[in-house]
Amino acid sequence: MQENFCFWNDAGNPVHPASAADFLPRAQLTLMQLHRLQVTIGRAYEHVPIFRERMDAKGLKPADIRSMADLAHVPFTIKNDLRETYPFGLFASPIEDIVRLHASSGTTGKPIVVAYTQNDLTVWKQVVIRALAAAGVHRGDILQNSYGYGLFTGGMGLHYGAEALGCTVLPTSGGNTERQLMLMRDMGVTVVCSTPSYFLHLLDVAENSGLDFKRDFKLRIGIFGAEPWTEEMRQRIQDISGVHASDIYGLSEIIGPGVGGECLYQTGMHIFEDHFYPEIIDPETLEVLPAGEIGELVLTTLSKEAMPMIRYRTRDLSQLIDEPCRCGRTIRRIRRISARSDDMLIIRGVNIFPSQIESALLAAQMTSPHYLIVVDRKGNLDTLEVQVELTSALFSDDISTLEKLHKRISGAILESTGLRAAVTFVKPQTLPRSEGKLSRVRDLRKK
Ligand code: ADP
Ligand code: ZN
Repeated sequence: MQENFCFWNDAGNPVHPASAADFLPRAQLTLMQLHRLQVTIGRAYEHVPIFRERMDAKGLKPADIRSMADLAHVPFTIKNDLRETYPFGLFASPIEDIVRLHASSGTTGKPIVVAYTQNDLTVWKQVVIRALAAAGVHRGDILQNSYGYGLFTGGMGLHYGAEALGCTVLPTSGGNTERQLMLMRDMGVTVVCSTPSYFLHLLDVAENSGLDFKRDFKLRIGIFGAEPWTEEMRQRIQDISGVHASDIYGLSEIIGPGVGGECLYQTGMHIFEDHFYPEIIDPETLEVLPAGEIGELVLTTLSKEAMPMIRYRTRDLSQLIDEPCRCGRTIRRIRRISARSDDMLIIRGVNIFPSQIESALLAAQMTSPHYLIVVDRKGNLDTLEVQVELTSALFSDDISTLEKLHKRISGAILESTGLRAAVTFVKPQTLPRSEGKLSRVRDLRKK
């Protein structure tokens, strides 16, 4: 009981006791970070051969890390390091101390494996409690967890945190959408956790079954993450469903969901920096960038035992916000992940991210939020097609409305990307949906 008690902070916001570290004075937080960083680097140096070799190659010893600024000299870790040491090569704990393994989907080749000790699982649970609490979730909420259970970290990661927060958890995992909706409605579910694209799918199926989300459901909050989405998409989701759509961030290599999450003000995700230390680097020069600049997010785990990750290059593009947040949290925020650097498309020499197209489409109103970007090459010329799904209402609209819409969308894409795209309208319910992460790009040039 005690564990679920809330108090109110100076900014007048409710705080779960597990969230106390969100509000530490910065000086105290920095001391804690430094101590933990030194322990982590010592641990990795002792137990992880590739880390030791890289430190030695730079003439660095763990004792050289005397301030957080010294971290900038420490070698990076990249995703390929996890593949090359598959399956257990980065573990810093003996197998008898490891109580859980997860593996990422690994679209190319071998998956990557991540490991947890009992303590790591406790930390994971704590940060998920903090992320959920920051988004306004509390004891008494009925939480439907539609993230995939199993090897993917999303499902189980959120699950244990939500239970520990005192929510009533419905572990539906992804898929079987009609049943998800039935349970959501019958049980008066108040919080849903899923990818934003799967939630859009739930909304569609509900609409087709004659259900009105605002009228027939008790849903208050959506905890959405695991894939890039835009601010425009958030607005659209909130408008259609009436839920407060909160962004949550995480990746398996660092721990899973719960690396960071938004507070009620929806102004970027607070990073639980007492456990995960964020830096933003220039992906070309690898220099650390000052707060406010856009670059690649690099994370260092400060308490992980089984698999410490030091200066892990996430490939996620973001920006550190170090201005104080209205919620009173002292931990810094990162701006919504606009893209992964690997998602960048180079079309006719122009660099674009799918999120630019999503923003343009949604700004043009009236269409459904489902789209697919198809890139191909004809002769020597790259082609860009954007397939946009019509809503049923639009589909039966007259041709001149559609023409106007077509013009507006093409113009918005041209404005945001500098590229002329062939915009194609497709029938309602024809573009691919996903139970988990959705890829909205088909790059046929790679074939
Ligand atoms: P996999 O590697 O199999 O995709 P992960 O769950 O570890 O599995 O994926 C983590 C990645 O998902 C992150 O590096 C990031 O690119 C993306 N991601 C997670 N949360 C968000 C979010 N809130 N916004 C944008 N992208 C996200
Ligand atoms: Zn805040």
